[in-house]
Amino acid sequence: MTAKQTVTDVLIVGAGPTGLLLAGDLAAAGIRVTVLEKRGAESNLTRAFAVHARTLEMLDARGLADELIATGVPLGSLRLFNKLRIDLGSLPTRFPFVLITPQSNTERLLQERAVKAGATILRGAEVTGLRQDAEGVTIETVEDGATATHRARYAVGTDGVHSTVRDLLGIPFPGESVVNSVVLADVRLERAPDEVVTVGATDDGFAFLAPFGDGWYRVIAWDRHDRHPDGTPPPLERIAEITRNTIGEDYGLHDARWSSTFHSDERQAPNYRSGRVFLAGDAAHCHSPAGGQGMNTGLQDAANLSWKLAAALRGRATDALLDTYQTERHPVGKTVLRSSGALVRLALAHSAPTRALRGALTTVAEHLDVVTERGAKIISGIGIRYGAPKDAHPLVGRRVPDLRLTGLEQPREDGPAAPERLYEALRAGKFVLVSNDELSAADPWADRVVTAAPADPHGKLRDTVLLIRPDGYAAWAAVDPGRGELRAALAEWLGAPADA
Ligand SMILES: Cc1cc2nc3c(=O)[nH]c(=O)nc-3n(C[C@H](O)[C@H](O)[C@H](O)COP(=O)(O)OP(=O)(O)OC[C@H]3O[C@@H](n4cnc5c(N)ncnc54)[C@H](O)[C@@H]3O)c2cc1C
Repeated sequence: MTAKQTVTDVLIVGAGPTGLLLAGDLAAAGIRVTVLEKRGAESNLTRAFAVHARTLEMLDARGLADELIATGVPLGSLRLFNKLRIDLGSLPTRFPFVLITPQSNTERLLQERAVKAGATILRGAEVTGLRQDAEGVTIETVEDGATATHRARYAVGTDGVHSTVRDLLGIPFPGESVVNSVVLADVRLERAPDEVVTVGATDDGFAFLAPFGDGWYRVIAWDRHDRHPDGTPPPLERIAEITRNTIGEDYGLHDARWSSTFHSDERQAPNYRSGRVFLAGDAAHCHSPAGGQGMNTGLQDAANLSWKLAAALRGRATDALLDTYQTERHPVGKTVLRSSGALVRLALAHSAPTRALRGALTTVAEHLDVVTERGAKIISGIGIRYGAPKDAHPLVGRRVPDLRLTGLEQPREDGPAAPERLYEALRAGKFVLVSNDELSAADPWADRVVTAAPADPHGKLRDTVLLIRPDGYAAWAAVDPGRGELRAALAEWLGAPADA
C-alpha cells in the first residue's frame, strides 16, 4: 500500500495560536494551507491570559478584536511586582488596556476564522521528518500509526518550545532556564478576589490568580524553597500556603481540577528561516511568562510572515522580502527576551543589591511617567517599529495608528458598511494607500491595494502619501510625490501591475 500523500501551498506544523493566525491569514488570501497538529483534540490547556494592545489591533485588522474582548475583562493597568503598576490607559490606541481572557478563547476564534477561510486542520498528525529542495518542502507525519507525506512550496514550524521542525532543521535553541518548579493549578475559590488579576510577591516567592470567567481560577505559585520535578505538583494545601504567604490570603481555594509544574526557559533561535522553512512563535523564542508576552509575540510573528508568504506565492515578491521576516522579527524577540527576563529576575531577586535595584526601579517607575510610558509601549507592543532605509520618510517602518479614513468602498453590497478607519480597511488583507490626492495611479494594483483619503484633509497627512502594509506598518511614505515616484513605490511593494 502506498503511503498517503497530500500537496498544498503552505504546511504549518502546530495548531497553537501562532499557527492558527497564520493559517487564517493565508487561507483568507486564497493560499492553500494545511495545519498538521499532533494532538487529536483541541487543547484546553490555557497558559496565556494576557492579550496586549498591539495584538488586539492585529485582531481588529481581522475583525476579531471586539468578539475576543467580549470574552474577557480589560484592565487599564498591569501590576508586575507588589508595587509596580504600569498604566496602559494613555496608550495611543483603540485598546488602551490589557485584555484578560484565557488563551483557549483566542485559539477558538482564530481556529473558527481559519476553517471558515478554507484552511485544513489535520489533527492527530505528528510531524517526524522534513526535507527540502529547490521547489518545496516534504514533511513526514505519523497519523493513526501510519506514515503519511505532505508536500508544499513553504513550511512554517509553529510547534512550540520543543519544536520538532527546529530540530529537524538543525537550528539550535541557545539560552538558559530562568525559574524552576513553578506550580500551576485550576481551582475554585470560596471568595472572589476584589481585583480581576491578583498578584503578590515576597522575597521568598510569588503567586498570581486569574479568572477563566466560568467560576474557575488559574493559580500560579512559586516558592524558592520548593523543588518539584516538572509535572509533579505539590498538594493543594501547599499551593494555598504559598498563596497566603505572598498575596496575604488564599480565598479558600479548593477542588483543583488540574495541576502541574513547569520551568521557564529563555531561549531564541538564531535563524527564523532555513530555505523554504520558517519558525514562528514559541518555536523561535521562549521567555518567562512575566509581562504576558509569549503568545502576543507569536501572533505578531505570524502577522508579519503571512502577507510576505502570500506575496511570494503569488509571484509578487522577491525572496528578499521573505528574509525581512528574520530582520524584523528576530530583534523583537530579543527585546522581549530581555524585558521579560529583567522582570522575572527582579521579581525573584533575593540578594540585597538586586533587591535594592528592584526598590529603586519601582520607585523610579512610580514617579517618572516617562519610564512607565516607555514600559507601557514595550509591554503592549505599541512601541514596536521596524528598520527603514537611511533616506526613508520618518514614518517608514513605524506602526500606523487607527487613522480615520474616508472614500473607502463598502466590501459587499449586502455586507457591512464601508470602513471608516484603518484597521477596518486592513480586513481586506491588502495594502492601504492613504492620500489627499487623486489616487488613480494605483488603479493597476486595485486587486492588492485599498485606497482612501484621511478623514481630516488638513491633519498630519495633509501633503503625505502613505502606503501601509497589510500588518499595519508603514511600507513607504513621501511628501507630495510625483505620479512616477508613487507608481515606482507601488511596483516595489506590490509587484508588477495586474495588466503588465
Ligand atoms: C504559565 C504560563 C503563562 C503564560 N502567560 C502568557 C500570557 O499571559 N500572555 C502571553 O502572550 N503568553 C503567555 N504564555 C506563553 C504562551 O502560552 C505561549 O507563548 C503560546 O502558547 C505560544 O504559542 P505557539 O502557537 O507558538 O505554540 P504552542 O501554543 O505551544 O502550540 C504548539 C502546537 O504545536 C503542536 N506540536 C508540537 N510538536 C508537534 C509535531 N511534531 N507535530 C505536530 N504538531 C506538533 C502542539 O501540540 C501544539 O498544539 C504563558 C506561558 C506559560 C507557561
